[in-house]
Amino acid sequence: MYPEDSEVIEVLPELAESANGFARDRNQRIGIFDFEHHKVLHRQIEIEQGLKDAIENHQLAIYLQPKYRISDKSIAGYEALVRWHHPREGFISPGEFVPIAEKSSLGLELDHYVLVRVFELIASARATIRDFPPVAINITPAHFSRVDFHKLVLAGIADANIPIESVELEITEGAVMERSEEARQNLDALRSQGVRIAIDDFGTGYSSLNYLRYLGIDDLKIDKTFVDEVLTEKGKIIVKSIIDIAAAHDIQVVAEGVETAQQFELLREMGCHLCQGYLLSKPLPVDEAIELFSQQSPAQTQ
Ligand code: C2E
Ligand code: MG
Ligand code: MG
Repeated sequence: MYPEDSEVIEVLPELAESANGFARDRNQRIGIFDFEHHKVLHRQIEIEQGLKDAIENHQLAIYLQPKYRISDKSIAGYEALVRWHHPREGFISPGEFVPIAEKSSLGLELDHYVLVRVFELIASARATIRDFPPVAINITPAHFSRVDFHKLVLAGIADANIPIESVELEITEGAVMERSEEARQNLDALRSQGVRIAIDDFGTGYSSLNYLRYLGIDDLKIDKTFVDEVLTEKGKIIVKSIIDIAAAHDIQVVAEGVETAQQFELLREMGCHLCQGYLLSKPLPVDEAIELFSQQSPAQTQ
């Protein structure tokens, strides 16, 4: 709209293009320019382009956050979390760029990049530490429902020459519940070969534990929002029932985002198996994370 949106005639087509893009995203036939929408779209495009470059130029780093056994505070495994230090803008959170990447084929490229990097790091860690524990990799739901995704993972594991059990995949409930037959086939193929599977952010979707137990998953990660509430009467009841039902079906329960000693103690009393969170360790650069494991088990180092 001239002159409300801009008094500069040359700028108007760009704004019209922005309104058009916004309308298209929402399947609307008419779009009216809105500066807030424009900023969101602009940021998305910037992130998409920047991320593409970052993947090509190997500018994404992998951090590892330990998962601890609640019984003795030993490290049972790690979760790989991607980190992007943008050359100009500094740190950009995966909470922002992963959802944007998921909307396009960039999600697949990102997952592929992380898979390969993590397989390499498992191989190199195991070269010096015989029983280096499993490392979990987050997989975007769109990727998990691609035909033959399992082949990509299994081929990568074979190429890196690492044991299948040293790899875990974290998928959200939605990735298996709301998705296709392909997702189920991938899950079955990966499970039957021995790849560990964790359900991430459990409780934020719509699945029932009753259904999940048929999937043969290994770990269930209770979403941080429930852990945050665990000290309240209601929160305690919810977390306790998740732990009890999961344990009855031999599913290991991991509490996400444990930040206080009170939460930790309560989770221990309730029989929760593993815990992850800032209380015990933040995500760490790979070298530091490996060092932490060597310190706890020097006898296992070759
Ligand atoms: P997520 O898989 O549920 O990962 C847990 C997130 O919680 C991580 O955030 C982690 O740093 C953070 N966290 C862990 N402990 C605590 C705590 O005690 N307090 C608080 N406040 N936060 C804690 P991060 O690394 O920013 O990742 C956010 C999300 O982005 C992840 O959620 C995951 O869905 C996605 N993501 C991260 N890395 C990757 C990746 O390599 N590939 C894909 N596809 N997604 C990724
Ligand atoms: Mg995760
Ligand atoms: Mg999570």
